[in-house]
Amino acid sequence: MRVLVIDDDPFARSLLARQLSELAIQEVELVDSGEAALSRLARGMPAFDALIVDLNMPGMDGVQFLRHLARQRFRGGLVLVSGEDADILRSVAKLASARRLRVAGTLHKPIALESLGQALGAVPTFAESTVMGDMRRTYDEQDLRKAIATGQLVNFYQPQVRMIDGAVAGVEALVRWQHPDDGLVFPSDFIPLVEQSGLSDELAGAVLAGALRAARQWRGAGLELRVSVNVAMDNLFALDLPEKVVNAAAEAGVPAECVVLEITESQVTRDLDRLLDVATRLRLKRVGLAIDDFGTGYSSLAQLRDVPFDELKLDRSFVHGASSNPQLQAILRATLDMARQLGLRTVAEGVEDREDWDNLRDMACDFAQGYLIARPMPAEAILNWSSDWRAKGHQRLVKPQ
Ligand SMILES: [Mg+2]
Repeated sequence: MRVLVIDDDPFARSLLARQLSELAIQEVELVDSGEAALSRLARGMPAFDALIVDLNMPGMDGVQFLRHLARQRFRGGLVLVSGEDADILRSVAKLASARRLRVAGTLHKPIALESLGQALGAVPTFAESTVMGDMRRTYDEQDLRKAIATGQLVNFYQPQVRMIDGAVAGVEALVRWQHPDDGLVFPSDFIPLVEQSGLSDELAGAVLAGALRAARQWRGAGLELRVSVNVAMDNLFALDLPEKVVNAAAEAGVPAECVVLEITESQVTRDLDRLLDVATRLRLKRVGLAIDDFGTGYSSLAQLRDVPFDELKLDRSFVHGASSNPQLQAILRATLDMARQLGLRTVAEGVEDREDWDNLRDMACDFAQGYLIARPMPAEAILNWSSDWRAKGHQRLVKPQ
């Protein structure tokens, strides 16, 4: 791992250098300002996997530096450091994420070796998203149509487990574009284009078909999983959607109740009648309906009121790190309480560490999904993962009754 340290204080720099060498990180460069860092980054290779940034610097401060970094689309991990209080660090981290930078950790000065190690330990989890690095390409509608037609879109699957006993309950299908030249392309790089091109229905259909094929194979091997597929609210305006879903499931030999449609945000509902018609018939046919990313964007109480959801997915931003954040705790507790009263199944996304898990379990959340359990994986890997998980993986998380 190659790390760049940006701090105006020479003492802080040499302390960090020493700590990094204790963590066996050999490739370290040190600079004393945001300006120096930007010119070093502009020289390009070798690229850095992580930057450790002091937020309080004379000249260009940390926040300004992050703005420049975002413009350069830096794809490595960021570790933010400050002597200021935790709220400020948190706000800056949020700002950085909003600018699509990848924050691996926030550290309070003086830096503890263990927290530094932990933060840097989170950096490789970004690796899968850095495949394209700064060479990020843009695609057009033709590329996309071809990709759908030739099967270049493949599903990865991220497991969901029941918190009370660790049982493997389902998977969320997450689409990737296996591009012949560019490698694995992530949804953030092509979903906006899907929407602009009016290809949402085609994409949702392709993802659902792939997920059902996979579910069929897992069932054949004795593993009965629910499969969740992301669809845009706009897809719910197609009156024949319930029939399409049910027919596709029947053809694949998978019960309709094993299919969950995760509905993502959309503008204010244009045509509530039509939406209710489709949503209600999906539920009558026992297809699950989850409100995705609950609490963000348009995934709000109004949607819960209007649409017959039977599952609520807590957005990662309310889950990870909640146990040490009183505001998040309050939101989480209230949301889970409400979901229980409404009779909704609850699934937490972004369960990334033991604290997240214990916290949600204490609040009686039903299911968990996140890196702590498993990263998204190809369909073929699910069976092996699941037997590993049953053999040993879940024992460290599930308390004996
Ligand atoms: Mg989702």
